[in-house]
Amino acid sequence: MISEKAKAKINLTLDVLYKRPDGYHEVEMIMQTVDLSDHLQFEEREGNLISISCTVPYVPLDNRNLVYKAAELIKNRFGIDKGIHIHLEKNIPVAAGLAGGSSDAAAALRGLNRLWNLGLTLDELAELGAEIGSDVPFCVYGGTAIARGRGEQIHRLPAPAPLWVVLVKPQIAVSTADVYGNLSVSDIREHPDTISMVQALADGDPEEIAKQLKNVLETVTFRMHPEVEKIKWKMLRFGAMGALMSGSGPTVFAIADRETRAQRIYNGLRGFSKEVYLTRIL
Ligand code: ATP
Repeated sequence: MISEKAKAKINLTLDVLYKRPDGYHEVEMIMQTVDLSDHLQFEEREGNLISISCTVPYVPLDNRNLVYKAAELIKNRFGIDKGIHIHLEKNIPVAAGLAGGSSDAAAALRGLNRLWNLGLTLDELAELGAEIGSDVPFCVYGGTAIARGRGEQIHRLPAPAPLWVVLVKPQIAVSTADVYGNLSVSDIREHPDTISMVQALADGDPEEIAKQLKNVLETVTFRMHPEVEKIKWKMLRFGAMGALMSGSGPTVFAIADRETRAQRIYNGLRGFSKEVYLTRIL
């Protein structure tokens, strides 16, 4: 039996450049993995079937699960006539803007590549991952990267200085499709300065990283769910250097350069939300 970790991601920047003729939005975003992980265990089983078990009840176990899709893709593409059971220990909040499902799929690709000795490189796994979802290629690599296109074109960046991250997941569901549907690109008043964020990360300058945090989807999600914006302001009031919504939300994260500061934000927010996580950028 082998196991593999699937890390959550946050967006340090998220820009939407234009709506493409194919209906997708052209994005440019800086993605960062954080130390909050699902755990996958892989075990071969009799026959030729894929089966999944999971520690939480609200994740589908059939071919709607991105882990199932990853296993199916690998089996079909490489003609693997073996059964596989994958157990998923879910710690990343679901439908949160933290790419939990995508990261699980990426971990499944990496794990099965090892289990079945396929010898695929990370680049090859990322290319396969793009067939599952546009966040999967980034999750195959992890770390820090700029993602462009639909999110599937990855340019890796050096690891930034360590930072503390407090995540708050409000108890509401936000549909990514609705957020993009309510976005009017010509109405975006302020775009992230992606180049300056790359520089701030390279300099390891927490103040500047905090200053450059920007997500153009915030306005849309805040309008749909005002409580998400309230969490952001609470984080800043409890001493966050910066705070931002991740992806299309509803998770909001705060950054802090010192553990004591992060702990204060964590303690402060626990009074308002059931799902609060103290984690870090590694
Ligand atoms: P993203 O940031 O990429 O938009 P997300 O964090 O908002 O992702 P996920 O946690 O990936 O959202 O899950 C969204 C939906 O996908 C869930 O409601 C669930 O039904 C389905 N899903 C499929 N596979 C998984 C998985 N392995 N873990 C969690 N959800 C999954």
